[in-house]
Amino acid sequence: MPAGARRAIVLGMNTISTPSSLLADRLRASGFVGRLVEPSDPDYDRARMGWNGAIDRRPAAVAYASDSDDVAAAVRAARAAGLAFSIRAGGHSVSGRSVRDGALCIDLRALNAVAVDTGRGVVQVGGGALLSELDAATQKHGLAVPAGQISHTGVGGLTLGGGMGWLMRRHGLTIDSLHSADVVLADGQQVRASADEHPDLFWALRGGGGDFGVVTSFVFRTQSVGPSILAGVLVYPWELAGNAFRASRDLMDDAPDELTIFDVLLTAPPQEPFPPELQGRRVAVVGVAWCGDPAEGERVLAPLRADCPPVLDLVGPMPYVALQSMLDETAPHGWRFYDRSHYLPEISDGFIEALLDGFESVPAPQAHVLTGWLGGAVDRAAPGETAFGHRGARAFTWIIGSSGDEPLGPVTDWVRRLWEETAPFATGGVYVNALNSERSVRDAYADEIWERLVAVKRRYDPDGTFEGNGIR
Ligand SMILES: Cc1cc2nc3c(=O)[nH]c(=O)nc-3n(C[C@H](O)[C@H](O)[C@H](O)COP(=O)(O)OP(=O)(O)OC[C@H]3O[C@@H](n4cnc5c(N)ncnc54)[C@H](O)[C@@H]3O)c2cc1C
Repeated sequence: MPAGARRAIVLGMNTISTPSSLLADRLRASGFVGRLVEPSDPDYDRARMGWNGAIDRRPAAVAYASDSDDVAAAVRAARAAGLAFSIRAGGHSVSGRSVRDGALCIDLRALNAVAVDTGRGVVQVGGGALLSELDAATQKHGLAVPAGQISHTGVGGLTLGGGMGWLMRRHGLTIDSLHSADVVLADGQQVRASADEHPDLFWALRGGGGDFGVVTSFVFRTQSVGPSILAGVLVYPWELAGNAFRASRDLMDDAPDELTIFDVLLTAPPQEPFPPELQGRRVAVVGVAWCGDPAEGERVLAPLRADCPPVLDLVGPMPYVALQSMLDETAPHGWRFYDRSHYLPEISDGFIEALLDGFESVPAPQAHVLTGWLGGAVDRAAPGETAFGHRGARAFTWIIGSSGDEPLGPVTDWVRRLWEETAPFATGGVYVNALNSERSVRDAYADEIWERLVAVKRRYDPDGTFEGNGIR
């Protein structure tokens, strides 16, 4: 569609602003019709903030793209102006890589349409959609795409790094369901990447971290899931945290792929369903999702309940969309976060002891640690089949430091210390979606995957235009 016609539609939607800076002129000249929010705009402060309240950056402007042509126009304009840019979808990058000081932030949130094609068994998802939007649309048909655990995370960033969540041991990582992607390249060209078209780019998009182009639309294969699923949490007082961890490990030693478990260490919030005697105290929570016949799931979970009876048992049939937002309250927008993570070759007694010891000194009630078991369908794709770096790891631990909306203060040091104390039990690798400025993207990949990523980068983005994670 010509820029004039698109501009008329967007004006009709009342989304355009009329700044007249040099940058605005350049964007308009290249055909950009979306809204541009510059520092003089009253909405600038709202527009520049992502999910992590600890990241306080001042981009040159935020360009709200209205479609893929707008994305291409913004990329071209920024390059012509010699201006760095960043891409933002859900805004959930903990390190805040989607907003950079002095750069143009190209925001994709308006590209959030989700269209399910039940005949082909696929769903087309805009590059700026949130997991909640994906889940709502697919669940209308009893379908799902395996994704992450907080419903306001962006499909874009999550997918490009891999995508771990409640369905992964049964249906794989999010990238394992990716069929194709429409991509705006560094020169503004729009291409489709799939097994047949630009297969090297398609490979890199599946776990390479996203520095290869802007994905304006994903197509995923869908799975039959829900609408009800056996899931929920088992809650243990702190004295039983070690037992609960070991009992879940024993269960996961030969658990069916239908079962995914995340053990969470946290401070119980002062509210139901936590009983008054646990509120404000450290607790262990075993989060469970069973993706199969519920009666069989109950049988599989019986040894865990018998070996280590919880003080509160909230595992039962629940709507899949409720499971997908069950942890949302642990990560609201605007809270300040600092995190680190490990992949683990096994969950040893030594690791459990070190983790529990370290959690004793947690300095803020919002900080928590998640440990999820991998394996199952995650390992069905061979190492190297996609760019995701860590097939074969037994588990993943994410130390999530937060101080609510207060300054992080001692929380950052606590995360670093706990990470160091547990490092001897880890593989040394890092999840590309959990990188922070202290870890190099190089640590996210084995040598042969890294070399392929660099080759794809040189082919599709030889000038290093997309530099969020630093692959070059
Ligand atoms: C509270 C919370 C919970 C999380 N839970 C999980 C989880 O359960 N499982 C899991 O695997 N990960 C999880 N993550 C990590 C998450 O996958 C990454 O932070 C991811 O980058 C978030 O994507 P986003 O689109 O919301 O972020 P953004 O900050 O918008 O994007 C991050 C970067 O990804 C790239 N990107 C995003 N979209 C596109 C696109 N369409 N095209 C090109 N590049 C793009 C860009 O480089 C961008 O700068 C979680 C993170 C948080 C903060």
